[in-house]
Amino acid sequence: DATDPRLQAIDPSQLSISKTTTPKDLVPNEELVFGRTFTDHMLSLEWTASEGWLAPRITPYQNLSLDPATCVFHYAFEAFEGMKAYKDKSGNVRLFRPDRNMARLNKSVARIALPTFDGKALTELISKFTTLEERFIPSHLSARGYSLYLRPTMIGTQRTLGVGPPGSALLYVIASPVGPYYPTGFKAISLEATNYAVRAWPGGVGDKKLGANYAPCIVPQMQAAKRGFHQNLWLFEGPNGEEYVTEVGTMNLFAAIVNKEGKNELLTAPLDGTILEGVTRDSILALARERLQPEGWVVSEKKFTMQDLADAADEGRMLEVFGAGTAAVVSPIRNISWRNRLVECGLEQGEECGPITQRMKNWIEGIQYGEEAHPWSVKL
Ligand code: PMP
Repeated sequence: DATDPRLQAIDPSQLSISKTTTPKDLVPNEELVFGRTFTDHMLSLEWTASEGWLAPRITPYQNLSLDPATCVFHYAFEAFEGMKAYKDKSGNVRLFRPDRNMARLNKSVARIALPTFDGKALTELISKFTTLEERFIPSHLSARGYSLYLRPTMIGTQRTLGVGPPGSALLYVIASPVGPYYPTGFKAISLEATNYAVRAWPGGVGDKKLGANYAPCIVPQMQAAKRGFHQNLWLFEGPNGEEYVTEVGTMNLFAAIVNKEGKNELLTAPLDGTILEGVTRDSILALARERLQPEGWVVSEKKFTMQDLADAADEGRMLEVFGAGTAAVVSPIRNISWRNRLVECGLEQGEECGPITQRMKNWIEGIQYGEEAHPWSVKL
């Protein structure tokens, strides 16, 4: 049973490190493309149903060698995380809320019968790995936004076409240096509200970070792109035809509106199993409750519909809309195509970002880069 606590233990003191003899050249900051280049090493841990987690290893970054019958290739036993390491002004390396990524990966893997693990021990190993790869974290002294993207990944490695719980697994972490999502400043994006395809549904796995959730979204994404939109806004139809707003591509969605009672309200969909439990989403909610609520804002996790947004736009109550995720922190949204109309999201012509979106970005980046002391930022 993969949930047996003895099978979850990881012993960081057993870590072995084998360093590369062919260190890579660093890619110049301005040439960094997300997820294209990787660091010198990788962190790996194997698991077997009889022995649990074996000794962790840091080795040169290298190909995996897997039998073609390995279960990950057939039944999608794969879950992953996305998190970042930042370098502060004094040169310290920092992780942002790594406990959240560990907890989410544990929930994801448990849902697909892969083994859970001690999240604190994995964070310790990720910290060692990140420290070893420190030279790949671009300095942000000239501009915020440079970081090292970390990709913890778990796959089922049992060699079998039988459909069942994998008897062995591999957990590995690779790292990719990344630049600012918007190198020349924010560019507000356009969304296509999508109802002809459904990303997630109640009782499904849309709240887990499974590779299998992502591949089916690419065709709708390409169709939206062909019509000139950057991303899909996934709608979910309620029992009476209401079209609930869920999330965007790889971001959660926030709307700032003046509500029908005349109050400023920051809205996002609730964690009902159909959206990913974004770490950025959670951070924005916490900061909004702490810093916007005292200014009179109502902060709501609740279901809202495309019609609610269209009404707000039509009645002059729309303030701003933004996506939220690890990649861009926040991403301003100009408009949403819905039922043959464009719902404008509060930006004037030529304006790329609203004030709430900008403040959120500044607050979160200030914490990520250690400019504001905060328990979310973990110094290595
Ligand atoms: N939704 C989806 C579907 C995502 O892939 C991501 C990126 N992990 C998010 C939301 C945002 O989550 P986070 O803030 O943890 O990056």
